[in-house]
Amino acid sequence: MPDGGKADLSSAAQIIADKIDREGPIPLGDYMAIANHHYYASKDPLGEAGDFITAPEISQMFGEIVGIWLADLWLRKGSPDHCHYVELGPGRGTLARDALRSMRKFGCIPKVHFVENSPILRGRQKQLHPDATWHQDIAELPQDGPLLIVANEFFDALPIEQFVATSGGWRQQMVVRDRSTFAPVPSAHRAADQISGSASGFPDGTILERSPVSVEWAGNLANRLAKQGGTLLIIDYGYTRPGTGSTLQAVKNHVPVSPFDSPGTSDLTAHVDFHTLANIARTRMLNVNGPVGQGQWLKALGIDQRATALTRASSEQAEMIQAAHHRLTHPDEMGSLFQVMATTAIDWPEPEGFSDKEE
Ligand code: SAH
Repeated sequence: MPDGGKADLSSAAQIIADKIDREGPIPLGDYMAIANHHYYASKDPLGEAGDFITAPEISQMFGEIVGIWLADLWLRKGSPDHCHYVELGPGRGTLARDALRSMRKFGCIPKVHFVENSPILRGRQKQLHPDATWHQDIAELPQDGPLLIVANEFFDALPIEQFVATSGGWRQQMVVRDRSTFAPVPSAHRAADQISGSASGFPDGTILERSPVSVEWAGNLANRLAKQGGTLLIIDYGYTRPGTGSTLQAVKNHVPVSPFDSPGTSDLTAHVDFHTLANIARTRMLNVNGPVGQGQWLKALGIDQRATALTRASSEQAEMIQAAHHRLTHPDEMGSLFQVMATTAIDWPEPEGFSDKEE
C-alpha cells in the first residue's frame, strides 16, 4: 500500500470480512496471508518504536557473524565467482549491511538480491543497498552461480494451516466472523485429503499445524541449492520434532494480542517446523546442519570475542554491548528460543558452528 505508512487500520479486516461474507468460513492460512500482507505493506514494524525487535536490530554483532560464517564457507569452497547474497524478508536491510561488510573483509563481494514484498520495507532497504536487486519470489533469482541465502525471522511470518482432532476425524481450522472481530472454528467437513493419519488417539481439540507455503518455499530453495550450490541459513523460533498445539501468535507494540482481533495491525507468526524443513532439504540431497540454539551458534562463531573487541574500541558503550550480547545469546532471552539451521549443497564444505562440542 503506497500510502507512506498510513494504510487504514481496518483494510485487512474489511477484505477478510468481505471474503467470508462471499465464500463462507475461510482457511486459517488465507486469513494469515491477508493479515500479514497488509501488515507489512502498511508499516515498518521493527525496532523499539515498532511492534517487535529482531536480532540484527539489537546489535551489529549478529549480522557480522552471519557474514563471517558465509565468507568462511565461500573461502573453503574455493572462492567461486558469480556468487549471490540472497536475503528473504530483509526488514530494514540491517543484517545485510553488517554481513556484507564482514564478507568484504575476506574478499567475498557477492551480488545482492532481496526477496521482499513490502513496498515500505523495500524503500528502507534501498537506503542502505542502492545497488541491490529486488524480487517478488524465488523463481526470479539468478540461475548463474551459488546462492548464499539468509532468512532471519522470515519463515515464521508465512501462513500456516491448523487441523483439529474431533470424533469425526481431522477438521481444518477455518475463520469466521464474530461481530466486529473473527474467530477460529473447525470446518464442518473432514480434512481427508489434506492430512494423513487418523485423529483417533488424539484427544478432541488437539491441534496439528502445517505450513504448505513454507514447504513450497523450502522446496524451491532446496532445488536451487542442489542445482547451483550454496547454502540456506534459517534463523527463527520453532520446533525440531513433530508436535501438537497451536503456536499462532500476534504481537503489537511488543505485547501479545489476540490473533483474531484487528488483523493487519499486529505481527502474526507461528513457530517454524524445522523438522519438516530439514526433511525437504534431505530429499534434495542437501546436507543439513542443526538446528542448534542461536546462543550456542553465535558463541561457536566468536560473539564473545567480538563483544570484547567492540568494548575495547568504545568503552563508553560497554554496557550496551554487554546487554546486546546477553539478549542475543542467553538461554532466558533469544539464546535457546531461536534456532539456527543450515542446509548446504552436497559438494560444499561443512559449515562452522554446529558441532556439539562448543556449547
Ligand atoms: N529479517 C528481518 C525482518 C523480519 S520481519 C530482520 O531480521 O530484521 C519479516 C520480513 O519478511 C519483512 O521484511 C516482511 O516484509 C517479509 N515478508 C513477510 N512475508 C513475505 C512474503 N510472503 N514474501 C516476501 N517477503 C515477506
